[in-house]
Amino acid sequence: MRIAVFGTKSYTSTYFDRANKAFGHELVYFEARLHERTARLAEGFPTVCAFVNDQIDAAVLRKLHTGGVRTIALRCAGFNNVDLEVAAQLGMQVVRVPAYSPESVAEHTVALLLALNRRIHRAFNRVREGNFALEGLVGFELRRRTVGVVGTGRIGAAVTKILNGFGCRILAYDIAEDPEVSASGVKYVELDELLKSSDIVTLHCPLVPATHHLIDAAAVDAMKNGVMLINTSRGALVDTPAVIEGLKSGRIGAVGLDVYEEEEALFFEDLSSKVLQDDVFARLLTFPNVVITGHQAFLTEEALTTIAETTLRNISQVERGEECENAVAFMAKA
Ligand code: NAD
Repeated sequence: MRIAVFGTKSYTSTYFDRANKAFGHELVYFEARLHERTARLAEGFPTVCAFVNDQIDAAVLRKLHTGGVRTIALRCAGFNNVDLEVAAQLGMQVVRVPAYSPESVAEHTVALLLALNRRIHRAFNRVREGNFALEGLVGFELRRRTVGVVGTGRIGAAVTKILNGFGCRILAYDIAEDPEVSASGVKYVELDELLKSSDIVTLHCPLVPATHHLIDAAAVDAMKNGVMLINTSRGALVDTPAVIEGLKSGRIGAVGLDVYEEEEALFFEDLSSKVLQDDVFARLLTFPNVVITGHQAFLTEEALTTIAETTLRNISQVERGEECENAVAFMAKA
């Protein structure tokens, strides 16, 4: 199958070329992200391979369809950037990679947590400048601290396993409780209770209408004084201005982010010579107790290998007319 791969980075082609030896697809790489102005690049390709910040809305889907595209192969788990209703109307199939190493994201979550707690980001800069003072670097032990995990799917459950090893008390909130997670000693509670009782809150639920701005001004007010908030899930789970207010008042003690609501205009590109236009993001960068990574929680050898293999297998299944277990179905609202 000829596949137009959008938003290609060096790590995309390296892992896709390696995995493709077993599949034999024709991969054509485009550095450009997929959006209305670049959709024409896919003319004549039956399949487009896209990533989290590609724009796959109604207008783009119609353009792709006119150009002959029939399959959208997402090389990510989330599909909130795809207009599934329009894809279904056009008879286009959407496939994705639902799980590609939850441990990669879980471990990055804990890396953010530990960096913030033990002030690694500040210590790194100080030591490089010959400043060995320890003022302002006091952390706390994770043992016996209460961590609230919102969403105990694949990634959230992996986070609970790691934190169990640290001796944390773990509270969880999910619309569907996992008995295995409960059996490991995690206590499911309502969201209010989790926010009120947790020293650290970490978000692992998907971005859906019910979770949009889950952490808003009211949630910030409900949280424990000095709480640490970690979000490696999707940016729009958090109302960033509300979190900034929480940081300014001290209600929030630390924030670790791998995702940001407006990340589409920023992440995955080298903008170091450009003037940052996003004032909200710029304000976030001024806090000494905020660590941000640019959507890299998935970026491990293991995850990149699984992403490439699963994406290419999905496409092969579609090509052979087989049912693809990783197809994303459009659910009409009741
Ligand atoms: P998953 O589907 O296995 O788990 C999601 C969990 O959230 C499920 O248990 C589900 O019941 C729960 N949930 C759904 N709606 C909820 C709600 N309203 N309130 C509370 N819980 C709710 O997904 P996963 O593989 O664990 O991934 C979680 C999220 O992580 C994804 O949606 C994706 O946005 C994000 N992600 C980020 C990266 C990264 O690189 N930063 C990589 C992969 C995934």
